Amino acid sequence: MQDRGNAMDTADYKVLIIGGGASGMFAAARLVKELGSGTDTAVIESGTRTGRKLLLTGSGRCNITNRHCIISKYNTDDPVRLGKVLSGFNPSDTVDFFENVLGVRITSKGDLYYPATFKSSTVNDALRLYIEDAGTKIITGSKAVSLVQTEEGFAVSLESGDVLTSKCVILATGGASYPGTGSDGTGVSLPDGLIDPEDIIPFTPALVPLTSDKKILKQLAGIRCSCRTKVICGGKTEDTSEGEVLFTKEGGISGICIMDISASVLRLLDSGKDVSVSLNLMQADADEAVNMLAVRRHLFGNRSCTDAFSGMIDRKILEAVMADMRIDPESTVSDLKDGRLIQLANALCGWEIPVNGCEGIDNAQVSCGGINLSALTDGLCAKEHRGLYVIGESCNVNGICGGYNLQWAWASAAAAVRDIASYV
Ligand SMILES: Cc1cc2nc3c(=O)[nH]c(=O)nc-3n(C[C@H](O)[C@H](O)[C@H](O)COP(=O)(O)OP(=O)(O)OC[C@H]3O[C@@H](n4cnc5c(N)ncnc54)[C@H](O)[C@@H]3O)c2cc1C
Repeated sequence: MQDRGNAMDTADYKVLIIGGGASGMFAAARLVKELGSGTDTAVIESGTRTGRKLLLTGSGRCNITNRHCIISKYNTDDPVRLGKVLSGFNPSDTVDFFENVLGVRITSKGDLYYPATFKSSTVNDALRLYIEDAGTKIITGSKAVSLVQTEEGFAVSLESGDVLTSKCVILATGGASYPGTGSDGTGVSLPDGLIDPEDIIPFTPALVPLTSDKKILKQLAGIRCSCRTKVICGGKTEDTSEGEVLFTKEGGISGICIMDISASVLRLLDSGKDVSVSLNLMQADADEAVNMLAVRRHLFGNRSCTDAFSGMIDRKILEAVMADMRIDPESTVSDLKDGRLIQLANALCGWEIPVNGCEGIDNAQVSCGGINLSALTDGLCAKEHRGLYVIGESCNVNGICGGYNLQWAWASAAAAVRDIASYV
């Protein structure tokens, strides 16, 4: 146990935060703002440094929030509670806190906000420096292994054998994706006996690349293409998205718009259904695509099909679609009959990729599952255990790509801290 002199009755701390990731570090910063000092707070982090997943965000650029953080962008067990938490600390509050409290200049690209440096380390450093300046203790290289309720509050045991006590505990151990960053999904079991096991939903991957056994995809590894996508199951469109698709070296499909539909795909696959993702590689209606092909056939009649059409779409993708349709890419384009040209246009506007699974939780950006919001209050406190809070990806909340998940991390931390400020 740490020597804390005569601090806070008999407990070591007022607030112990388990997990020094995005939500835990933000909670520590909000505590400094709300309580005026950080000396009564400690952050316990299993890794040797804080914010390891935060550093990976936005391909190292950290998309901190999105102008439109509305509940329809998220999956959760309790959308009403989610809405209350999100409206209690909105994207403008995030920008304001980063700019005016943490000193991070923020810039936007469309609806997406980033640090003006476009470096996630700027965000990570700003959080750490702010709480360190205020005297918050950051205990790295320490994994919390148990959490029990005591008369004074809670006792947290560390792997080292040390036990820390505190009036409040914030569980901020994250989800189960990218376990190499320290968030391996085991943290949600720490409040053993304090949260009903039925309210702890097992983690599964979300925002994850999809796999396919369509062999030709491997030839496209590394190629990116803007697309409109549809999830097709039993002839029906089950979900849609738009953006960049990346063909992976594993022979699957990734990119933001694929990640955004991955949860729907996995849900359908889990129920035993055949699912395919249709890629509109032309981002156009079939009629427009027919016109585009016909114009080029007319203009470049002596060229091969690939050469004639390669100004419209990546050459390798074009060849893959033509191979699927048994059109010889070297054949002269003027020999392509109207019927075949229409079929090619249709294929380019809806290239169906049968999908059979995903790359797994290690490669997912976030995970579905965690502690149900319905087991918590609006201040994200365990209903039956005053002083125990759950925030960030440890909660059963996950959003699509575009800054929604970090906004949840910030907003949930802010909600818990508001509640704590009225309690400690
Ligand atoms: C590659 C990638 C890119 C992403 N890009 C974006 C983006 O641009 N925008 C966006 O909004 N979201 C993005 N996300 C999602 C976002 O990073 C997460 O939603 C967010 O980090 C969740 O914050 P958290 O605090 O809940 O968990 P984490 O950030 O995962 O932090 C949890 C921390 O708890 C620690 N921990 C776990 N168990 C224990 C324990 N028992 N004892 C002590 N410490 C423990 C872990 O080491 C970890 O540091 C991305 C995710 C990935 C993987």
